[in-house]
Amino acid sequence: MEECIFCKIARGEMASDMLYSDDDVIAFRDINPQAPVHFLVLPREHIVSALDLTPDDAVLLSRIFEVINIVAEKEDIAESGMRVLTNVGRAAEQIVLHLHFHVLGGRRLHWPPG
Ligand code: AMP
Repeated sequence: MEECIFCKIARGEMASDMLYSDDDVIAFRDINPQAPVHFLVLPREHIVSALDLTPDDAVLLSRIFEVINIVAEKEDIAESGMRVLTNVGRAAEQIVLHLHFHVLGGRRLHWPPG
């Protein structure tokens, strides 16, 4: 996906504050943080949203959650608590059409969200 900004970040063609990177999964800080700690974890592969996941992605998904936990530990939010979420489609205001998980922490996170 040439025009996808998260593909560009994954290919190193666009700058990011990278926190983790391997052959399959990357994590970087959100450019517009909604909490003291706010990073995104995503597959390098261009998958549009959670709706497009299939049973073949089981290992990838488990890797993504492994990375979420590794970075959350590094950022010191695992113990205190954090929120992990993925927006799907228009009503949820998914802006970037490349599957990504938001990880937020470092403050009290209220529920329900807006
Ligand atoms: P979503 O609404 O779930 O699609 O969220 C997309 C997120 O990506 C937003 O929180 C943006 O602040 C974030 N974002 C957009 N462009 C960049 C970028 N170049 N680097 C880091 N985060 C970005």
